[in-house]
Amino acid sequence: MTTPTPPPDRQRAELRELLGADGLLEQPADMAPMLSDWRRRYTGSALAVALPRTTEQVARVLAWCAQRRVPVVPQGGNTGLVGGATPDASGRALVLATRRLDRVRNVDAANDTMTAEAGCLLQDLQDEAAAHQRLFPLSLAAQGSCTIGGNLATNAGGTQVLRYGNARELTLGIEAVLADGTVWDGLRGLRKDNTGYDLKQLFIGSEGTLGVITAATLKLFPQPRARVVSLVALAGLADALRLLDRARAAAGPSLTAFELMSRPCLDMVEEVLGLRRPPFPAAHQWAVLLEWSDHEDEAHAARCSEALCTAAIESGEALDAVIAHSLRDSAALWQLRESIPEAQARRGGNVKHDISLPASRILAFAEEAEQALAGLSPQLGVMVFGHLGDGNLHYNVGTVAGVAAAAAFDLESAINAIVYDAVLRHGRSISAEHGIGQLRRELGLQTRSAAGTRMMRSIKQALDPLGIMNPGKLI
Ligand SMILES: Cc1cc2nc3c(=O)[nH]c(=O)nc-3n(C[C@H](O)[C@H](O)[C@H](O)COP(=O)(O)OP(=O)(O)OC[C@H]3O[C@@H](n4cnc5c(N)ncnc54)[C@H](O)[C@@H]3O)c2cc1C
Repeated sequence: MTTPTPPPDRQRAELRELLGADGLLEQPADMAPMLSDWRRRYTGSALAVALPRTTEQVARVLAWCAQRRVPVVPQGGNTGLVGGATPDASGRALVLATRRLDRVRNVDAANDTMTAEAGCLLQDLQDEAAAHQRLFPLSLAAQGSCTIGGNLATNAGGTQVLRYGNARELTLGIEAVLADGTVWDGLRGLRKDNTGYDLKQLFIGSEGTLGVITAATLKLFPQPRARVVSLVALAGLADALRLLDRARAAAGPSLTAFELMSRPCLDMVEEVLGLRRPPFPAAHQWAVLLEWSDHEDEAHAARCSEALCTAAIESGEALDAVIAHSLRDSAALWQLRESIPEAQARRGGNVKHDISLPASRILAFAEEAEQALAGLSPQLGVMVFGHLGDGNLHYNVGTVAGVAAAAAFDLESAINAIVYDAVLRHGRSISAEHGIGQLRRELGLQTRSAAGTRMMRSIKQALDPLGIMNPGKLI
């Protein structure tokens, strides 16, 4: 039943009663880190930040929000790149931060599953799996800060999608609290379960707009015996696509990462963070980081990686390659790739696009987009990196050396029009893994079919009829 909304102080007092004094942040300085996004593009305001410890507390808070018509913004590690976890400026919303929902409830090694609460850090879950001689393969550069709840709510991808799939494919069950405070226990460790609509899928990728994910049952895999990382220098993007073909054929499921970096990205991490690439020939314009995971041993993995790189060089596809022979060398190669977002942020940012295309269309897309951007302004410089193995490019447009980053943001609409037109013509998606949030909400509405939008709105209406879950995001 609805009751008149009391003033903010009274609302906070009611929330303190539900959560205890240490379960609510109210002071501006305490809330500030949760009111801006990672890229500092959005800053909002909030009634308070709730820090529930249990699913029951989440349920009580959501029932209270429904009764008081208070909007809820779920937040995990706040590493999202589309402003999905940032409240609006009204100060009416409650940020519901999951960081105290941080228990691993169970590891069922015999079933290769792990059940963990939403606020567990991704890195901690990888470590927990490793402690049971298992692999939890979801991997991304933000894994030390992002949470599994956020990973599922955004259907995160990362660097191992090629072999293991994205968050959706790694999830067997979900527990969620609905917008009216109902707890839905969909935690199952089953790989087969054809008993009706697969409801967990609604919450995966829903960006906090349908309910709060409180726990998940996740798939585990055998640990590979060895991982060998190589960095291959290439002259052209077409060569990178040919190398992908070759690597897939040679490695099959042993190919666990195929990460692309354009030369300007490598120049930037060297310039901004002092990370040096191997001494590649001057002609190299691209590099690919390739990871071979092996279920025999280190020597076998190294032999296979060497044979692959040698064949690529002999065929003229690759200019040069280095193969890491120690964990330290592997980490250094991965660091080149994973430091690109940080180097970009330090340099002043750029206009980001997280796009996905069929491998067969990537070349034509890149040629068209680059030509059109050069026509728009000679001051623009394209920085491309991403998960080429699964068709996902981070196609970021900044400025050439010596031109302030702001010059790219001044042309943001025109840049977006060029990039997204080309993406739509070549088989689309305007968001491969980062989601829609508030950054791409309009674009999502423009590019989705009318039928698709209608179905999404019906689902939203059914699960959140009051529209309190993360308003202004996704749909
Ligand atoms: C350096 C860096 C590298 C990155 N690399 C990748 C990458 O390779 N691949 C990739 O996919 N992403 C990447 N990201 C983006 C980001 O890390 C992911 O989107 C991640 O999944 C977000 O998790 P989080 O816990 O930080 O969620 P948040 O940022 O807190 O929230 C993200 C969204 O999920 C919702 N949400 C959070 N928790 C819940 C919950 N429990 N229930 C319901 N809704 C919830 C929020 O409302 C918001 O809409 C990267 C980010 C950074 C900063």
